[in-house]
Amino acid sequence: MATRQTHKPGRYLLLYGSQTGQSQAIAEEIFERSAKHGLQPEIHCMSMVGKKFQVENEPCVVMVTSTTGDGEPPDTAIKFVRRLNRKILPSDHLANVRYSVLGLGDSNYNNFANNAKNIDRRFSELGAQRFHPSAFADEVEGLDVAADPWIDALFPALQKLVGVCPDAGDVNGVDEPRCNGSLTVDHSESNGFLHSGPTPSDSVSAASSSESGSGERTTAPAGLNETATVDKKFDKTDASATHSVSESGDSNTDTVDKAHAIGTTPTDADGSRTANKKQTSENVVSETCAERSADCDDAQQSEMEDTLDLNTPVKDVPSLGVSTAELFEKSLTLPAPLAAFLTVGYLPPDESLSSKMAELPWQNDCKPPSAASEILRAKVVSACRLTAEDAVKKTLLLKLCVRDSSLKYRPGDSISIICANDDKEVSQLIKRLGLVSQADLPLKLSILVGTKKRRAAVPPHIPEEGISLRYVFKNCVDIREPPKKALLRHLVDYTSDAREKRRLQELCSKEGAQDYTAHVHGEHVSLLDVLYTFPSCHPPVERLIEHLPRLQPRPYSVCSCSEWQPGHADIAFSVVTVPTSNSRLYARRGLCTGWLDRVTQRLQLHAGKEETPAADPVTELAQGVESASLADIEKIIVQVQIVSRTNQHFRAPSDLSVPLIMIGPGTGVAPFIGFLQERQLRLQKEEKGGNVGETWLLFGCRHREKDFLFRSAVEEFQSNGVLTKFLPAFSRDPLNDPSTPRYVQDNIRAHASEICSLVSEKEAVVFVCGDAKHMAVDVAAAFESILMQELDLSADKAKEYLMTMRIHRRYLEDVWT
Ligand code: NAP
Repeated sequence: MATRQTHKPGRYLLLYGSQTGQSQAIAEEIFERSAKHGLQPEIHCMSMVGKKFQVENEPCVVMVTSTTGDGEPPDTAIKFVRRLNRKILPSDHLANVRYSVLGLGDSNYNNFANNAKNIDRRFSELGAQRFHPSAFADEVEGLDVAADPWIDALFPALQKLVGVCPDAGDVNGVDEPRCNGSLTVDHSESNGFLHSGPTPSDSVSAASSSESGSGERTTAPAGLNETATVDKKFDKTDASATHSVSESGDSNTDTVDKAHAIGTTPTDADGSRTANKKQTSENVVSETCAERSADCDDAQQSEMEDTLDLNTPVKDVPSLGVSTAELFEKSLTLPAPLAAFLTVGYLPPDESLSSKMAELPWQNDCKPPSAASEILRAKVVSACRLTAEDAVKKTLLLKLCVRDSSLKYRPGDSISIICANDDKEVSQLIKRLGLVSQADLPLKLSILVGTKKRRAAVPPHIPEEGISLRYVFKNCVDIREPPKKALLRHLVDYTSDAREKRRLQELCSKEGAQDYTAHVHGEHVSLLDVLYTFPSCHPPVERLIEHLPRLQPRPYSVCSCSEWQPGHADIAFSVVTVPTSNSRLYARRGLCTGWLDRVTQRLQLHAGKEETPAADPVTELAQGVESASLADIEKIIVQVQIVSRTNQHFRAPSDLSVPLIMIGPGTGVAPFIGFLQERQLRLQKEEKGGNVGETWLLFGCRHREKDFLFRSAVEEFQSNGVLTKFLPAFSRDPLNDPSTPRYVQDNIRAHASEICSLVSEKEAVVFVCGDAKHMAVDVAAAFESILMQELDLSADKAKEYLMTMRIHRRYLEDVWT
């Protein structure tokens, strides 16, 4: 065992185990804010265990970690968890350790935050003690709901533990507690409508409290005139003044101050907008499209509307831009803005820039977090539509030729497609930010001089130079993901209109957590939705680059087996369409599914409507079937970049005698086609007469004739005996008999006795794939009910039975939100 080390005062170990970067981002935020509290964390990824740290030598360990798959640790935490779970460890192994865990999870999935819970339990079993209660943040309600209060209370707990006095903070540090600003709504009336927003005194007190590091700041109710004056003073010119203040390295708190200090007369346009807004309810930010355009250049705005066809939200319905009366009345507690750390410089035009950028490796050659392979190239050699023209959803089957790559996969794995942001959205974002003339210039990203962020670095997935702003927005950052509260908090500081500012404050405040969950997270609004809804918001592009998450590849289950068609891999997906709502101001298609649909249009025409097309042009060519010339084929083949993602547990059992029950409605059937191909090949190879378990497939779609995916393949598996039972359910076909199953779970109930005997007597393995939110929950409930009925179990015992199956990996889910 390593010897105990002496540590510097205020030191603690801060670990993160991240899959997509969220846990890392939160850990880094804690790291940044620690100095303000006199704390000096040593931060590491959990994967560095044994190399950079040994937990048993640490008096104080803070961990932030996510959970993936069916309650598994993220890839970067596997080694850490494995070491922690070693059976030989004595029960006092961590007796000298004090710890706390923040787990991130998604309650749509079973085993919510399971990895963090297991780590928490294991630390305790090994004698460590919690110095601060562990917390588990749920993606469904917004991670901040649980993460914010946990972080806020963490610092005093740490100070107490490591013996730092509460005043010991570094006055130059960037941190303030997350919830540090209390802004009071002004209920005075003027011009017939309510105003709210920070006042000059509010900003002053914020600045001074920030310097003293004392935390909470509360302001007296603001006078209407102050508020109104402050906000009316702010016009486009003021916004750019704000920008330059920020660039010079002043804190954002100062920025608010300076904005208040800038005096300009409201323009006529502002005045007329105010008059229009007066007619609406006071807490309405979103106005008509025409009003939204008021802060933008007319020509630009008309182009925006032409291209994105903006929706006009209903005025009095709570939405992204519209508050509820209850929230509008509340004092707000705001998070502190995180320290700015980037600066963007533009270089003179370079004609060769586009060709140079075309040669750049994807995202600076930075491997995606959950990738099991390097970035590989593949060709989409066929694309065919699996659903009828009049089906509810368009589902595509793409065949990828991976002959030239080293891709290895097994049924159950996924292939992630690297895609870029939509050109139109990128252009609109650039226009909305007023950066059209700079967008294609060579750009240089550097660290803001005087930044208060510790360990400030250009995000590794963005090249520091040799790129343009358009390239960054298109390839490196996710502009579709709902903005996090930290970004909204920054946007507050760059918003001039009082009501818009107030609404943004609400959305990032503690009190507005429900509104954030409902209208930002729940509606899946994009940055552009936010910028359109708040037209007086003019953030500097640097702040956006700092906050926008990395654009991640999109995973799809493989629906083939590599031995079945060597050198190829199939994926199937429904093309996602997202309509407008009161918060989403423009309709959009799924980023990757929409793109794949668009770029494979000609392949789709070539393939016709056959489900397993012989019309794979590459194969045709290899076989000498010259239905198309080489030149024609090259024109329609689409090159894509992919990475593979392994699913260690979602695998058909190697023992063919184990019965399989596969449940996959819609595209959830995808992995099972690969399972069946693999099974057929094995059955052909292995000796006849062996004990072969039953193989069931429960599939569901809307209409037998419109979206029965893989129909002929499934019928083939049935007729050759690979599939022993196929139970389809058609949810929207007219029913002759009301007892006809509509959903997969109806078939589970209808075949309760056979399924239970397969499960309880023959140790069948159950696989569920598809929608996590409703289907997987309903299927699990159906299982519990048939277990109760057939095995005569109580509700608790049936739950326990299913849980035991999960633990022994006999009930496996691959479910997607
Ligand atoms: P879908 O929209 O989920 O519909 C398939 C069938 O499921 C329909 O008949 C639908 O009926 C029914 N359904 C609706 N609610 C249900 C419930 N609570 N329980 C059981 N059945 C229910 O099909 P999809 O568009 O293909 O989506 C399937 C899901 O699988 C998605 O969540 C997708 O992300 C996921 N998935 C995708 C992949 C992939 O690689 N592309 C792989 C695996 C899983 P009604 O609409 O008539 O109610």
